[in-house]
Amino acid sequence: MSKVYTLYLDKLSEPMEQMIISMCPPEVDLRFLEPNVGKQGCIEDAECLIVTTYKCTKEVIERAKHLKLIQRTGIGLDMVDVAYAKQKNIPISVCVGINSQGVAELTILFILALYRHLTTLDELTRKGEWHTWTYRHDSFDLYKKTVGIIGAGTIGKEVMKRLKGFDVEILYNDVVRMDQDTEEKYGCSYVSREELLQRSDVVSLHVPLLDSTRGMIGKKEFAMMKDNAVLINTSRSQLLVVEDLIEALNNKIIHGAALDVFHPADEPFGRTVRNLITMPHIGAATYDTYYRVYSFCLNNIQNLALNNELQCLI
Ligand code: NAD
Repeated sequence: MSKVYTLYLDKLSEPMEQMIISMCPPEVDLRFLEPNVGKQGCIEDAECLIVTTYKCTKEVIERAKHLKLIQRTGIGLDMVDVAYAKQKNIPISVCVGINSQGVAELTILFILALYRHLTTLDELTRKGEWHTWTYRHDSFDLYKKTVGIIGAGTIGKEVMKRLKGFDVEILYNDVVRMDQDTEEKYGCSYVSREELLQRSDVVSLHVPLLDSTRGMIGKKEFAMMKDNAVLINTSRSQLLVVEDLIEALNNKIIHGAALDVFHPADEPFGRTVRNLITMPHIGAATYDTYYRVYSFCLNNIQNLALNNELQCLI
């Protein structure tokens, strides 16, 4: 039986490495660039590269002379030199809809945590300070609020599904408008980006990082938003102009922000800003998500070994 020499480029924690090894079908010869317990591999021999956040640059693709597939464990492609892979006719597969549930749950968690000052009050209570009244004037229910989703793709729609029980009004903006039946199914109304920013109590970003979306929320957009608005970004940090976000928070132009994708280079700002929650890109980082992701990836590499059709190619 021919096995596909598969190299996982990212360094994994030992439990995660054990997990993917335990799921591996016989057609996949799984190796790691920096193994804990698994087999060592090298880029030069790889027929398939598995990519989580590792930069799969032109140089990496050039070194992998036998490459037949780049398998992403997520949906974003900003870490892969897509143009060069296309030039070399190397297919790229992404995990469509597999990690969206975790990101959607984190989005809801972020909204509620900001509305209740969860992280701040937890820290104060642990220090022995009892702030039952301190934030009452400044804490909110999600009930009856207006939530604006920018980017109503897979994750945006998963967020809408989860918002249903909260009795909110859902607005959305996307470059592609849904048909009427789909809008009814998700209980959402299409508006321009400007109207969404002006009317929403919660603005949540679910667009990919593209030239057209880079820096899409800056000074002008913060000025359009309500002063009680919270901004959620679980997509990519570069969608925001960070300095403008800091200014908007510190000058109370908006109420708060929660970022799953706060870039480490922005970290020094984070310490000084009010009502900001930052997380180190954990939206899809759950056992359940990775079980589904690894099942999909390994199954697709098995497809390569068996000459079956590859799934979710871009
Ligand atoms: P998707 O492709 O299903 O949806 C993206 C949507 O954005 C599409 O409907 C598209 O039409 C829309 N869009 C594109 N450009 C736009 C613009 N200029 N204005 C308005 N809408 C625009 O992608 P998805 O699976 O929903 O993921 C969205 C993003 O979330 C990914 O690109 C990735 O950056 C991020 N993500 C983050 C995590 C995490 O762990 N935090 C995990 C997965 C994905």
